[in-house]
Amino acid sequence: MQAFEATNYYFEQAARLLDLTENIRTLLVTPDREVRVEVPIELDSGRIGNFIGYRVQHDNSRGPYKGGLRYHPAVDQDEARSLASLMTWKTAVVDLPFGGAKGGINCDPGKLSRGELERLTRKFIEKIHDTIGPHKDIPAPDMGTDAQVMAWIMNEYAKYAGFAPACVTGKPVEFHGSAGREAATGFGLAIVTREMLARLQRTVAGTTFAIQGYGNVGSHTARFLAQMGGKIVGVSDAYGAVVNREGIDIADLDRHVAVSHKIAGFKGGDTTTNESLLTMAVDVLIPAALGGIFDREMAQAVQASLIVEAANGPTWPDGDEVFVTRGIPVVPDVLANAGGVVVSYFEWVQNLQHFRWPLEQIQREEEKRLVEAFRDICDLAQRRSVSLRTAAFMKAISRVGRAKVLGGI
Ligand code: NAD
Repeated sequence: MQAFEATNYYFEQAARLLDLTENIRTLLVTPDREVRVEVPIELDSGRIGNFIGYRVQHDNSRGPYKGGLRYHPAVDQDEARSLASLMTWKTAVVDLPFGGAKGGINCDPGKLSRGELERLTRKFIEKIHDTIGPHKDIPAPDMGTDAQVMAWIMNEYAKYAGFAPACVTGKPVEFHGSAGREAATGFGLAIVTREMLARLQRTVAGTTFAIQGYGNVGSHTARFLAQMGGKIVGVSDAYGAVVNREGIDIADLDRHVAVSHKIAGFKGGDTTTNESLLTMAVDVLIPAALGGIFDREMAQAVQASLIVEAANGPTWPDGDEVFVTRGIPVVPDVLANAGGVVVSYFEWVQNLQHFRWPLEQIQREEEKRLVEAFRDICDLAQRRSVSLRTAAFMKAISRVGRAKVLGGI
């Protein structure tokens, strides 16, 4: 099964419970537009690097397409398609006036110099500038991209369309970005985890967490959960994992990662493998790296009693079935990691208004939106006796389907 098929499996599971016509179902599944471009750049060595860039625009019934750009060797058309459709459902779950898109470049950013990354980003925007824009399609960061990449995008886009900071979100705060955007996904993750634990009559304080992936999302999630009193007992990145039953000192780990750019070599715990981190005895497991982590076998091996999906698409349908059968609740990606796109929305609004909001306002509004969405989805799941994932898809499909019908074909 491929990633797009997996997303559509979840779509179908929810659509069956809704009163949707076959026509609307087909319209909702099929992406509106798929762009694939060659992105050649001169490498520092003088050789030509030939990369492929993608942008899939899935649906814009509720507003402009919105979604991140990923730089990773596994980026391909199918992955972009799957992630684009997830964005359509995610923006609808938290009721933002956006549709869904996703894209990226098939490359290993770790092996590119800063100059190469800049040339790659600018060339990509040169190729797709007419398909994006503040009222068309608004990219944002994802795996392998950051605020600097977004700044290059804004600057390159301006060469074609003039000053338009709302053409991309996740920019540096000093360059038309929003306070709180960088940490927004991790902050939201911690809020949603707190709410879920409260439903289970538990608190973050005294709960143990393992986090796979220690990039933007994983590291901020760890920091906020630790601030709430949570005990982070295991973390991993692409190069290894570290565990400490007494709780990892996150501030100490952040200082180490700031210098060495990886967890390996951190002295505040014992080294372990990525695989054993996923199956360690822990209360809450948070996948915050790649998609496609939990298949049937891995889901059976998991010992955690709650999964909160920070990554997009970490659970295959057969893994999801195992979690349902084992009674392990999963807070799905479209809800759990929606804090990033919520604050991207605030950044877009600020850019359009040319008016800045303070951090307190942003975090307050982010929390309010996520808590409302979480309670809505939980209540729906309870009422219909379905999983949180199915409830989230049901809510999103109803909203997008309604907009499609109202707008007309
Ligand atoms: P990032 O590039 O900042 O960090 C990714 C982390 O995952 C790195 O620490 C990397 O070393 C690690 N990693 C990669 N392969 C791994 C492996 N096999 N095992 C363990 N760790 C591994 O990316 P990010 O922005 O933090 O995104 C992480 C996930 O969260 C992605 O699935 C992304 O789609 C999703 N997401 C990101 C945002 C956002 O605002 N950045 C928003 C919503 C969802």
